Amino acid sequence: MNAEDAKSHPLVQVYRRLLHTYGPQGWWPGGSPFEIIVGAILTQATAWTNVEKAINNLKAEEILSPESLRDIPTDELAQLIRPSGYFNVKAHRLKAFIHHLWDAHDGDLKNMLESDGPSLRRELLSINGIGEETADDILLYAAGKPFFVIDAYTHRILQRLGSSDGASIYSDYQHIFHQALPADYRLFNEYHALLVRHGKDVCRPTPQCEKCCLRDICRYP
Ligand code: SF4
Repeated sequence: MNAEDAKSHPLVQVYRRLLHTYGPQGWWPGGSPFEIIVGAILTQATAWTNVEKAINNLKAEEILSPESLRDIPTDELAQLIRPSGYFNVKAHRLKAFIHHLWDAHDGDLKNMLESDGPSLRRELLSINGIGEETADDILLYAAGKPFFVIDAYTHRILQRLGSSDGASIYSDYQHIFHQALPADYRLFNEYHALLVRHGKDVCRPTPQCEKCCLRDICRYP
């Protein structure tokens, strides 16, 4: 897709309106690539505020590093991340990621994240507990690779806009964004963050269409 086509695509128009309405979101709300990965695993099925509490516990114990999470017993890790919910499952998932990091990259996260995007995605999906959304969170926000993240907010907004084009599974939705937009990780980063903001503030389960910046181009109202 050339630049002119990209500019005229409805999803580009949606992006511009959301950006104009909400401004840059400054995502991901986490510091280092490793912190982003930990947050991506902990945020499965829970609100970010709970993840922040769990990450703050890890920081307070000074164990938010690959080496420290490798060395801490799983049950102790589970207690520290208790605020994130499903803490026993998530402790095992964090451990699975760490074990893979050592098995495949000798503990070198930078080496892992420098793999090409499709290879890294396959690698992440091979790790127990990492599904497509978590893998794409890591690819986009920790590795800076252009993989659009599809979450519940994105799914809902795209369907209501009438832009889902018969999509039914994760890869269908992701394909729509990848076809419509230039493969720019900064654009994908900001766009996904804006969709989350819009899904939380306006396009809620009961949408507030009367104050929506997309109202005149949305099929739902
Ligand atoms: S017009 Fe309503 S349904 Fe459409 S995006 Fe806005 S809030 Fe959601």
